[in-house]
Amino acid sequence: MSRKVYMDYSATTYVKPEVLDEMLPYFTETYGNPSSFYSLSRETKKAIDLSRDRVSKALKCEPNEVFFTGGGSEADNWAIKGAAFANRKKGNHIITTKIEHHAVLHTCEYLEHQGFDVTYLDVDSEGFISIEDLKSAITDKTILVTIMFANNEIGTIQPIQEIGSICREHKILFHTDAVQAIGNIDIDVKELNVDMLSLSAHKFYGPKGIGALYIRKGVKIDNLIHGGAQERARRAGTENIPGIVGLGKAIELAVANMEERNKRVRNLRDKLVEGLLKIPYSKLNGPTGEKRLPGNANICFKFTEGESILLSLDFEGICASSGSACTSGSLDPSHVLLAIGLPHEIAHGSLRLTLGEGNTEEDVEYVIQTLPPIIQRLRDMSPLWEDFLKGEKK
Ligand SMILES: *Cc1c(COP(=O)(O)O)cnc(C)c1O
Repeated sequence: MSRKVYMDYSATTYVKPEVLDEMLPYFTETYGNPSSFYSLSRETKKAIDLSRDRVSKALKCEPNEVFFTGGGSEADNWAIKGAAFANRKKGNHIITTKIEHHAVLHTCEYLEHQGFDVTYLDVDSEGFISIEDLKSAITDKTILVTIMFANNEIGTIQPIQEIGSICREHKILFHTDAVQAIGNIDIDVKELNVDMLSLSAHKFYGPKGIGALYIRKGVKIDNLIHGGAQERARRAGTENIPGIVGLGKAIELAVANMEERNKRVRNLRDKLVEGLLKIPYSKLNGPTGEKRLPGNANICFKFTEGESILLSLDFEGICASSGSACTSGSLDPSHVLLAIGLPHEIAHGSLRLTLGEGNTEEDVEYVIQTLPPIIQRLRDMSPLWEDFLKGEKK
């Protein structure tokens, strides 16, 4: 059987045909450099303006508060390094969490080598930070708080508005990595008290290699990419016009009928989780209910090993992930699963299935049918399982 089931939407998505259609003319016909002075380039300038408008509508901000970047990682790097270096005279302390994406974590680690102090907040067993911990971590040297909106591995949605109001109160800049939130959560940057917000098109059915950073009017951060005067002299480089056009269309579609789409995906996800938790010695990681991303399922199967599950699933045409795509390739268990308190050996046996618009009831059925024998077979080969069964018999 050559069925293909894609359940890795948090790693990336396909580009929607409507999105691609809008992008295509900007490769071959309307290719003018927007910084030039002829009508061909005026067209591309207009396309950028339209896209910026669309992003600003989705975030409920002004168009001139939106800056295009080369993706989510660049937006995170820019926000964090830019804020750190611009505020160095005020202080050198940054607060983040232990469960951030590596684009944030590794940026913070880099800044530690540059003389900054970073507090990595703990999270509870469902991945939530404690507001009290945040408050007590703040010192008179704190210049930036960066906390992700929604976690890419276990789907936890943080209390962003509350975090934002605490930062505002203390006059500390607040950045949030909202890469997983766009299209899943209603966002109003003013209401949320957010100063900077990162997003990336390929997580919401747009193209790869294009993202944006929202920078609230009046917030001064250093530039990351130096060169020409593009993006109002704050991010150099000839604009990725097709990418920008695709991002604009994709974000417009992502926020339209969001509730309805999420309800459908959440239903499929809940069926999947219900079916998979029937496998003995399995456990759902992350929260349940409204504070979890609608498409996210993360389950650990004791006495198994994530990479082996993935190989077997791939053989059956199922695309899934263990932890995040960025951690695969290393044998370390996910830093997120360790942070929620899973022991190493259990964190190793975890599987992330992230659903999206392309998934169907049949996909869910297929995974529910396919996975149990795989887990059984892997356990049958595991010495840990054998020992465990011996222990049970005593
Ligand atoms: C995917 C992702 C990123 C990185 O975005 P890229 O566009 O791939 O650089 C950053 N943060 C989170 C939470 C993500 O899921």
